[in-house]
Amino acid sequence: MRFVYLSDLDNNQKNFYKEADRQSALLSLLIEKDVDFIGAGANFYQVSNKKDWAQFPLFAGSLLLRTNSLVSLQWMEKVEKRDIKNHLIDINKNYPLAKLYTVPEDRAKTYGYVMSKNEPIYIATDIFPRDSKNIPLIGFYSSRERFQRVVSEFLKTGHPSVSDKVRLLQDSLIDRNSQKTGMLVYHPVFTADKKSLKGVMVGVIRITSYFERLVDTTSLGEELVVRIIDTGFDTEDDPVMYESTTWDDFNGIDYTTSINIEDRIWKVEYKTNNTLTEYQRLTLIWMFFGVFTISALIATLTSIVTRDRRRIENLLEIRTKELHYMAMHDDLSGLLNRRAIRDVMNRYIAENTPFGLVCFDIDEFKQINDSYGHPEGDEVLCHISQLVTDMLGDSAHISRLGGDEFSIVIKNKNIEELTKISNEIHVLVAESPTQFDGFEINQTISLGASVWKGETLEELLKATDQALYKSKAMGRNQVTIAE
Ligand code: GH3
Ligand code: MG
Repeated sequence: MRFVYLSDLDNNQKNFYKEADRQSALLSLLIEKDVDFIGAGANFYQVSNKKDWAQFPLFAGSLLLRTNSLVSLQWMEKVEKRDIKNHLIDINKNYPLAKLYTVPEDRAKTYGYVMSKNEPIYIATDIFPRDSKNIPLIGFYSSRERFQRVVSEFLKTGHPSVSDKVRLLQDSLIDRNSQKTGMLVYHPVFTADKKSLKGVMVGVIRITSYFERLVDTTSLGEELVVRIIDTGFDTEDDPVMYESTTWDDFNGIDYTTSINIEDRIWKVEYKTNNTLTEYQRLTLIWMFFGVFTISALIATLTSIVTRDRRRIENLLEIRTKELHYMAMHDDLSGLLNRRAIRDVMNRYIAENTPFGLVCFDIDEFKQINDSYGHPEGDEVLCHISQLVTDMLGDSAHISRLGGDEFSIVIKNKNIEELTKISNEIHVLVAESPTQFDGFEINQTISLGASVWKGETLEELLKATDQALYKSKAMGRNQVTIAE
């Protein structure tokens, strides 16, 4: 019997270690998943144009659907002191009641700009969900040193940063003495050259929801208690993230693991009773069979979370690709957009790759819209896009700059070759009317083209534009090559 008792104890202990490790792994996965979601929110602002930022709630909504613990995403846009007034006018279009405010370290809520060095601030400009708890945050900026430190670390490391345990503003606006149940994840959003920040995406995590899940999945109930200590920066005052209610009643063996969350380490401590309780004595059989069943259950749970995480990672990758695509393409024609074609030319100029630029604009396109209708006008735009794409294939970068204006960049072309191609495009479009059910629309275009000769992008665009203008002024439906 003594042998059974000892081996039972030994088994208990082994299961305890296994379970403790699984709990830590589960916790770590849950947090990483949320940090990934917040990163996706940051990506949205990084790759999309300002005019698309109104889509943020749609994007954020689809992210938050997939997690209980990530409760809100906040876009803190970097604003220079001189631009604050205009920025607030913009904010007020969506949030008419919002005012600029902060909560300084030693004072209550204060309106207006309080920084001492005229430095830029990061203003809560959009938020999801847009509910009555969150909307009062619009207009808020942090004036605390802690935030400044986070920002300067971004510029050094580029990595997200995680806060210690905080009392969420959402809660404290309602009750100043509310519990600290939040954690903030700051994700940098850089400008295209990666040299400065456009803003910061802040994800608000309610940490209690992780621990509720931990407790939910603990199989040994009373026999296993957990304490989580944050060892990161600024935690001296209150380092305990979580503690089982009966933590102090236990002296049993200790086991410690740690979890890395970006720039922080959480120490996870476990205790268990090292002696058999009356309950265990009566349920020895359960100990031998039940624990295995439950361990298996937890293993399954962990693997579900891992699978879930992989699925989410794939999804995020797809989303990010979609966003990249959106940021670089014109919706109507699927051609590159203005930003993308400028990128191509800037790259060629930087690499000193010879290239030619052809710009064209449809003649009297307003007339087409007016006579046939806007949808038919759209068809004409798509038809011309297709004609040029079929003709040039992958040999050129083709873009719609907006409206009825297009531009094409072709590398390694001299002036004769470029002239020949421009004429071919001109003839092809003029000879290929857009077909409709029972009628067709004839369209012509005016073109301007130039070969890059070492000038700046702006100079090249200007010369090509002037050539195009000349084609229009001379009666349209023709090609002009810049001198
Ligand atoms: P011009 O020969 O001088 O170019 O005359 P135009 O009538 O083509 O004048 P302009 O190029 O200035 O006009 C472009 C028109 O294109 C104005 C606008 O109504 C129309 N347009 C802009 N975007 C779209 C669009 O996405 N779809 C359609 N159908 N029409 C558009
Ligand atoms: Mg036109």
